[in-house]
Amino acid sequence: MLYYSLHNNAPKVSFSEAVVKGLAPDKGLYFPETITPLPSSFFDTIENLDPIEIGYQTIKQFIGDEIPEAVLKSILKDVLSFDFPVVSIEKNIGTLELFHGPTMAFKDVGARFMARCLEYFNENNKNQVTVLVATSGDTGGAVAQGFLGVRGVNVVILYPSGKVSDIQERQLTTLGKNITALEVDGVFDDCQDMVKKAFLDESITAHKQLTSANSINIARWLPQLFYFVFAYKQLKNKKKDIVFSVPSGNFGNICAGIVANKLGLPVKHFVAATNINDTVVRYMENSEYNPQPSKATISNAMDVGNPSNFIRIQQLFDNNFESLKNRFSAFSFDDSTTKEAMKQIYEETKYIADPHGAVGYLGLKKYQLQENEYGVFLETAHPVKFLDIVEETLNTTVEIPSQIKKVLNKEKVSLKIKDYQKLKEFLLK
Ligand SMILES: *Cc1c(COP(=O)(O)O)cnc(C)c1O
Repeated sequence: MLYYSLHNNAPKVSFSEAVVKGLAPDKGLYFPETITPLPSSFFDTIENLDPIEIGYQTIKQFIGDEIPEAVLKSILKDVLSFDFPVVSIEKNIGTLELFHGPTMAFKDVGARFMARCLEYFNENNKNQVTVLVATSGDTGGAVAQGFLGVRGVNVVILYPSGKVSDIQERQLTTLGKNITALEVDGVFDDCQDMVKKAFLDESITAHKQLTSANSINIARWLPQLFYFVFAYKQLKNKKKDIVFSVPSGNFGNICAGIVANKLGLPVKHFVAATNINDTVVRYMENSEYNPQPSKATISNAMDVGNPSNFIRIQQLFDNNFESLKNRFSAFSFDDSTTKEAMKQIYEETKYIADPHGAVGYLGLKKYQLQENEYGVFLETAHPVKFLDIVEETLNTTVEIPSQIKKVLNKEKVSLKIKDYQKLKEFLLK
């Protein structure tokens, strides 16, 4: 499988090259040259397949012969070592819980998959790779955990000071070893801009092999398509058309869902649910893409003003606005509406949704499911990761899971930086 740049001004590359490079030299995102639907027998008999087989069958065309079958399956076994249950919330609505991994965020799967691919590609390579990543909250922890102790890889994480939750901050600043946290005086977009700039800075790249572990990296992005297939497996016997509502920030997760759909997964409609960072929502209204600086919200992992992956979504619909509109809607919700939804879900069902999941729930409500449809909203983080806001909104306490307890009493270590120059000095030292 070859990958081309969506800016169409760079050579095509193999899977491993795209993973190691992250972004193409022309600044474009890599995109698979072809997406071949799986035989319908795969979906017809999916109930007989385990998660590793499902993962293998759905991802193998994107990797080709670059990782042998046995190695790929053992990577998947490692990565998919926890559950992805669909929990029923109300009649015709369920939530796909993606938070049962080591950092309790859905990004665990992508981060762990990418780390293990990179480790495999690096086996015979003595040069270190530096993974440079900007986080609005959950990416940092998942990447730090996923790459911890991986040979040949150093990880540098940029996060906006004071704009991630206490638990999120601890998850990315307390591990040590090959993980460094840079605390940026700014917002997420500043972190993302600095990372993008570093990738294009030849005075750095001449000395260091940099790669990204944001969802711009295909090894972080593509394995997320598994979630949608796992949900389908659980819901198939309901014989209803599935509508997915995905709480979206950089739009990588929902974009992977659309790839699953291209592989033949039956999906009626995709809803992108956002907070007030509504660039895509406005685009769907007036077909003008006009990114804005990100604004802070209680669903901070989605505080993204210029979502990187939206261009991939447009590509999946052949850049045709009308076909996109037929299959994809986007709605935005402010913090007070989100809190009301958290309360309503809790009062009616006793289910504790985190702010991101609640935004996803609101997306389904606004879409207005039909009688023959079943709506699934993705619960992308465990409520404990947004402890203060959840406890205060619901007036209850959340039990702290063991994965989280482990980091609570560890000491934060971060390096404060203000601007790009400081990042550069750090990377070159
Ligand atoms: C990253 C994240 C999102 C947004 O996912 P994208 O793929 O960037 O759209 C939503 N919720 C949580 C909890 C996240 O960590």
